Amino acid sequence: MQKQEDFRSPRVVIIGAGMTGLLMFIKLREAGITDITLFEKKSRLGGTWRDNTYPGVACDVPAHMYTYSFEPNPEWRKRFADGSEIQNYFERVACKYGVIEHIQFNEAVTEAMYEAGHWRIGTSQGRTVQADFLVSATGILRVPKRPDIKGIDGFQGAMFHTAEWDHSVDLTGKRIGVIGTGSSATQVITTLGRQGHDLTVFQRTPQWILSYPNRDYSEQERERCRRNRLRPVITGKIQSFLIEQIGSKAVIGNPVQHAMVSMACKWNLRMNVKDANLRARLTPDYKVGCKRLILSDGYYDAIQRPNVRLITDGIQRITEQGVQTANGEQHALDVIVLASGFDPFAYFRPANIVGKQGVRIAEAWQDKVQAYRSLHLPDFPNFFLMLGPNSPIGNFSVIAISEVQTDYVLQLIRLWQRRRFDEVSAKREAMMSFNRHIKSGMGKTVWVSGCNSWYMDQYGDPAMWPYSWKQWVKEMATPDLNDFHLVSYPELQARPARPDPVRRLESA
Ligand code: NAP
Repeated sequence: MQKQEDFRSPRVVIIGAGMTGLLMFIKLREAGITDITLFEKKSRLGGTWRDNTYPGVACDVPAHMYTYSFEPNPEWRKRFADGSEIQNYFERVACKYGVIEHIQFNEAVTEAMYEAGHWRIGTSQGRTVQADFLVSATGILRVPKRPDIKGIDGFQGAMFHTAEWDHSVDLTGKRIGVIGTGSSATQVITTLGRQGHDLTVFQRTPQWILSYPNRDYSEQERERCRRNRLRPVITGKIQSFLIEQIGSKAVIGNPVQHAMVSMACKWNLRMNVKDANLRARLTPDYKVGCKRLILSDGYYDAIQRPNVRLITDGIQRITEQGVQTANGEQHALDVIVLASGFDPFAYFRPANIVGKQGVRIAEAWQDKVQAYRSLHLPDFPNFFLMLGPNSPIGNFSVIAISEVQTDYVLQLIRLWQRRRFDEVSAKREAMMSFNRHIKSGMGKTVWVSGCNSWYMDQYGDPAMWPYSWKQWVKEMATPDLNDFHLVSYPELQARPARPDPVRRLESA
């Protein structure tokens, strides 16, 4: 057996102090790795939940399921937690596990260059740090997408994206336009509509909506969870099981589950929208689940309130005073909310990552954003792209996904610690074979049944996982070393077993 002192301690740099970055930090520390630098470009951790503060922001994955497995939370106040509660949870976890004091706040990774066995990473503070491993934990939906609408820059009122909500704008008595009807828009419209604000909703494509009532957890329920820590865990497991067995299976091609979910959505629409004309305008012409399913128990009610108008004529242009639709109608507005979604393929960009032989990320992804097992880019050794393309996102908990990916990454790092290699990178053939594997399952999924969604890349390939959660977990259980180039460098192999764990920050 190898002696403990033969193990090397890697230097790891993590980009992003959101859910995944915190998790990676905690898991590395648990594995005895201490030389970790966690860069966060903003002054606060939390990622999505720090950035999205729009009215009504909440998670559409049940709270006990949207929780780290090692840190159950008896304090959740609702079945679907509000954004601020989730933000508080991550901040608590970061304090409890001693992550917060290690975060380099207000410091973005701007570039990283790979050189024989290590990364040289530059930051917005002009510093350079070396690392054996670089982990991108920047999340998926990070970069807001502004709609490409004529005249958008000429609007004289307030205009902001849902992920950049301007809380200095007082909405009282204002005429508010919302562009988009996705998950974010639905939450905004439901909340502002119920509050009585004057809302004009610009819908380009209707959405299927599943009613899944939220409810408060009572103080007694929370107390029971505090007394029995297994309770929240079991609740989360039951929720995961149901979502996996019904929701996930419905979208990957199981006809029975798909029929059940479709029926529930159609029933929701029929029961809650009595006006046949309005119902027709709210009825999608694509299959349930093709776009991401929306969970809401208040949207149809909000859209029928007298203070809310649904506009389904296409937007022709944005004028100084509001929005002009294709029928020539002018909609005068004081505020425009862009609920127009995100660029899901940005990942860590605009950071410029340069791999082996000077391959730039822009070249590597010029034709297609792709990765072996979502995590590895050929030519970019010792680099892990968390929640990369074809991770099993969709209506499932990204926390569970990140946990599986973190365990997988740790297995490779452990092999490095045992000096099995200094450099690990996916073989290009392995990535192509992984892509074929994905493609062969995609045909039966509902995502390719005829709709536009943010899941799709420019070739119409959804960056999703087309098989079951169980199969993904099985395939991610252990890295298949045949799929990697493993390289050793004599000078690195000779490095002492436990180098000084204090970070070396050099001036650029
Ligand atoms: P989204 O689902 O991509 O929706 C964007 C909306 O903007 C769509 O209705 C789209 O119309 C519309 N749009 C975009 N460009 C437009 C244009 N030029 N003119 C008119 N309409 C335009 O974005 P999102 O609502 O921010 O949600 C993105 C994802 O974030 C969700 O699917 C979900 O995964 C996640 N999310 C989760 C939660 C949660 O509860 N956990 C909450 C919010 C968001 P088309 O449909 O016609 O393209």
